[in-house]
Formats: sequence, structure tokens, C-alpha cells
Amino acid sequence: MRRRQLLKGALALSILPAIYALPARAGSDAFRRVRPGDPRWPAPAEWDALRQHVEGHLLVPPPLLAECERAPDAAVCQATLRHLRNPYYLGDQPSGTQVSGWFGAWTPAASAYAVTCHSSSDVVAAVNFAREHRLRLVIKGGGHSYQGTSNAADSLLVFTRPMRRIALHERFVGTGCDGIVRPCPAVTVEAGAMWMDVYDAVTTQAGRYVQGGGCATVGVAGLVQSGGFGSFSKRYGTAAGGLLEAEVVTADGVLRTVNARTDPDLYWALKGGGGGSFGAVTKLTLRTHGLPAFFGSAECTIKAATDGAFRRLVDRFVDFYAESLCNPHWGESVSIRGDNSLKVGMVSQGLSSAEAMQVWQPFFDWLADDPQEFVLSEDKSIGSRPAREWWDAQGRRQRGSTSVTFDDRPDASPTHAWWSGDQEQVGAFLHGYDSLWLPASLLKRPQRARLADALVAASRHADVGLHFNKGLAGAPAEAIAAARDTAMNASALSSFALAIVATGEAPRYPGLPGLAPTDALARRNAQAVEQATEELRAVAPAAGSYVSESNFFNRTWQRAFWGSHYARLLAVKKRYDPEGLFFVHHGVGSEDWSADGFARDGKA
Ligand SMILES: Cc1cc2nc3c(=O)[nH]c(=O)nc-3n(C[C@H](O)[C@H](O)[C@H](O)COP(=O)(O)OP(=O)(O)OC[C@H]3O[C@@H](n4cnc5c(N)ncnc54)[C@H](O)[C@@H]3O)c2cc1C
Repeated sequence: MRRRQLLKGALALSILPAIYALPARAGSDAFRRVRPGDPRWPAPAEWDALRQHVEGHLLVPPPLLAECERAPDAAVCQATLRHLRNPYYLGDQPSGTQVSGWFGAWTPAASAYAVTCHSSSDVVAAVNFAREHRLRLVIKGGGHSYQGTSNAADSLLVFTRPMRRIALHERFVGTGCDGIVRPCPAVTVEAGAMWMDVYDAVTTQAGRYVQGGGCATVGVAGLVQSGGFGSFSKRYGTAAGGLLEAEVVTADGVLRTVNARTDPDLYWALKGGGGGSFGAVTKLTLRTHGLPAFFGSAECTIKAATDGAFRRLVDRFVDFYAESLCNPHWGESVSIRGDNSLKVGMVSQGLSSAEAMQVWQPFFDWLADDPQEFVLSEDKSIGSRPAREWWDAQGRRQRGSTSVTFDDRPDASPTHAWWSGDQEQVGAFLHGYDSLWLPASLLKRPQRARLADALVAASRHADVGLHFNKGLAGAPAEAIAAARDTAMNASALSSFALAIVATGEAPRYPGLPGLAPTDALARRNAQAVEQATEELRAVAPAAGSYVSESNFFNRTWQRAFWGSHYARLLAVKKRYDPEGLFFVHHGVGSEDWSADGFARDGKA
């Protein structure tokens, strides 16, 4: 066996130049993409031709910290370092990534070339060029991939950031759907937009609601293709569930308008099948909804005096959640922490301040009965405001709120702010990360003690976040039905929360003085995430995991991310991208490729 492999390897080496000279052979699996320096790497004149075709929007992107590699003390390096905690700055850089890497998994790498796309035709040109020249293609929108799937060394980058036009429709009907589908209010968004741009246009300006992401700087195309959860998903479902139509450039270079009638399978795959695997999306049209009267929040931290008191606290909170909060009004998360505290960071929709307070009062009364055991933080706050003001960052600033942080660059849009609560994640270097959907059956009375046991046991290793808005149990039937018609793992529909366990540190960039990761800490933290996840898996052995918020090292990723949908997704992939032009780590069809996506047949 070993000898045969050795021979196969020797043969491959001896005929390498010949393979480069030949077009892909039909029926053959041998296929290698080219890198700079390879004989088939495009000649300067060919790059020039592409540059002309895309009206100059082609560049050689410098690594994010190139200036610091050259001269760490120079003013320009210092300015870059200051911006590393600004997600808009990171997103504006073709080599920027919103997390600065993952210990043992990936390190940000600049592409060899980038097309900074201003139109669908720029995207078509880049896709055709990559296919014709056998380049490793990579697509970046907001740059929030935890798995590092929007950056790759030696690649051609499709950078959609400049494409951010947004148009609202009162009566949208998809292509080919006239007279068949009832018109509905909608919004069309170009692929480079961030959710903050969309919320500003749809909610602040137009007084309507669109289901997008919680983090304001996430890109629309990446999130919708993940499935996509926002703070109010327990009421409105997933972002993918709201997708009416998409414009996408497929591997053959064709710009397609896809919806349930034109290309039902591709349309379905784009709804949660994972970004960067089926084509380059240029535009998305999403359903909009009427706005509820109020959006609000409930925030506090409760510290338990002893391990025993903490166990009682978690028990009580599980009861309270199951009986009073598992419904369309309540989303976002709580954190169950190793220091015996429960941090509540939840949001509400459709409840006035008084109504929200009424919901929480019994829980606070229970805490107040035992002041020796439980200390409620003084910054406890529960309140609602008119929903239209939720994403009005300037309005928040005028009211003196510190809930948002602004892009402070001189040319920044006044609407460009992010949730201050997300600051910790900006540029973070990950040590470990995993997620699993917790089935709603665990909220049934006889199961609650097992759930509480597992949560407490897990928190002894690492803090556990329960993201209630990322599990649809308790959502309205229509939101669940829309999500059921997407490629996302169906276990999301019957789960009350997505449990996320993650550890990391402030931005780290291996190789840069003072910014190298702390390996020993990273190793310890990664192990703690693994141990905590194991404790949770004991009560949810078949749990799926959310493709975009998951473990880079998940060995059963096909089943974990997509469950029984994987076979259909693979069939769509083979139909629309038979040569595997679109590759991402643990994306549909990626099992045929080497880890770096350069060699099909599993060998780099
Ligand atoms: C700080 C942070 C907060 C997050 N918050 C949430 C949240 O609230 N809810 C949630 O559901 N998820 C959340 N996520 C996960 C996030 O939704 C996904 O990582 C999403 O894919 C990011 O999209 P992006 O465009 O910002 O990222 P990118 O890294 O640019 O893209 C992500 C993936 O999509 C592909 N892609 C991007 N644009 C296109 C396109 N036009 N066509 C085809 N493929 C494309 C990329 O190739 C890549 O594989 C968060 C992630 C981070 C880092």
C-alpha cells in the first residue's frame, strides 16, 4: 500500500510540467491550481488585460500589517495598529479579516491579486479569469468568517466591499414569478453591504424590518448563505428564510437571477448552504416586515455566593426561560460563567418597558428572597424604546448612550457604528470555538435538571453562551416554515438555543514583535473549549452545529452543519460547479480537495 503511494507520488512529480500544459481531462480527478511562479501563472500582460476589463479595479493587496513588518515604529504602522479594533477599517482592507486568526487553524494571508468589484460585470470577469487560469478564487464581503474562508494565500480575491447599493420595494415580484407569486415588500441589497447599512435604510429611514444579523458589521451575502440569525430571529426566523431572490455568478461565468422558479435547487443551496461554495453572489432581495412598536433589552449579572448557590441559580433560570422567555418576544443570550455568575444580555420585541419588567419580576423576586446567596448587579436594566430607533446610532449618541461605538475615521459614514458589546470580538485571535444546537426537549420539566447539570459542568471548563435567538423552538410557525425551506441543518428548528463556547485573546499577528499569540495559553484554552463542549454533548449527543459559528476542526462537519441536507447540497454543487472553482474550508464539496484548496485528489 505504502509502496504504491510512493510510486504514485514519484510519477506525479515527473509529469508535473506536462499536467500544467494540458487542459483538465474529462473524467480525470487530477487538477492543480496554479500559484505565482508556476509556469501557468498568468503573464503580466494577462493581468493587464483583466485590469482593463474591470476598469482598473485590480490591485496587489498588501498584507494588513505590511507597514509594521517594514517599520514597526513608523507613524503609518502605529495608525494601522490603532485601527485594528475598528471593524469598518478591517472590512475596508482587501487583506483585512475580522478575527486575526485561529490558533493552529489559520493565519490571515493576502491574496496575490484582488478585484475590488464595483459591479456584477467585475465579478463575472474575475470568475472567468480564475477559471480560465486555474487560480484559487476567494470571495470576501464583510470578512467575518471565523474559519478564515474569505482569505487565502496565492489567490485571486473577489472583494465585494464597494458594491453596497440598497433599494426598497413596496411590491416585489421575483423574475418569472409574475401572476404566480403575490407581490410583497422587500429590499434589494448588493453583496458588499453590511447589515448596519441595511438596517439604516430599512428601519431607521423607512420604518420597516428585515431579518439580518446581530453583529452590525457582518456582510449580507456571507450571513444569508450561512442561514443567518439576528437578535430578533425568534420572531422573524433566519435571514435565509427571508431570501426571495439572488443574483449570482456561477462557475461558468453566467450571471444568474435565481429564485424558487428559475433555479430552485441553487436558490435553496444559497439559503444556508455556506458562503463561497456555489457562486459569487452579487445581489440579494429579502422580504421586509412591518416593524413592531418596541424593541428593548434586559441586562444584568447575577453572582452566586457558592457552587451550590450557582447550581440553584442555573436551575431557576432554566425554569424561568422555559416558562416565560422561550417565545417570539425574547432573543440574544446569557452567559453561564466559571466564576459562578450568570450574565444576561437579552433583547425583546413587541413589549413595552412595563410589559418586559412584568415578565422578569418573578425571577428578580426569587433572587431577592436570598440576598446572601445571590447578588444582582447594580447596572441591571430592562427597558424598551420605539423599534425605529434601534439601529439609529446617531440617535443613541444624542441620548448619551454608550451602547454603540463609531467608526472614527474622518471620512466615515455617520451611520457606521457597531455594538459596543461586540468590541471584544473585533480582531480577536481565537484559541478555541465550538457550537451546538440544544434541543427544546431539554426544556421539558423532567429534562431540565440534566440540562442545568450539563451547563454548570461545562462552565467549570469555559464560559458557555446560550444564544436563544439562534435556535428557532418557540418561534412562530411561519418563521419555522421559512427556515425549513432552507439548507440549514434542520436541528436549528427544534432547538431552543445555540450553545457557543469560545476563547481567544486580543488581536495577535504571528511574526510581528509584541503581537505573537501566547501559545501555552492558547493550547490550554482550546482544550477547555473541547472539555466544555463534551459536557454539553452528553445531553445533546446528536446536536448539529452552526456552519458560521463552529469548530474549524470539526471532523463530521457535513453532518454537523447540514444534517440530512448534505447529499442534496453536494448534488447542487456538482451541477453548478463541477470543477470545484469555489472552494472553502469545510464547504460543500471541499472533501475532494487538499486543505489549501489547490489540489483536487486530496494532495497538496
Ligand atoms: C464578530 C462576529 C459576529 C458575528 N455575528 C453573527 C450573528 O449575529 N449572526 C450570525 O448568524 N452570524 C454571525 N457571525 C457569523 C457570520 O454571519 C458569518 O461568518 C458570515 O459568513 C460572515 O459574512 P461576511 O461577509 O462578513 O464574511 P466573509 O468572511 O467576507 O465571508 C464569509 C464566507 O462567505 C463567503 N462570501 C462572502 N461574500 C460572498 C459572496 N458575495 N458570494 C459568495 N460567497 C461569499 C466568503 O467566501 C466566506 O466563505 C458573526 C461573525 C463574527 C466574526
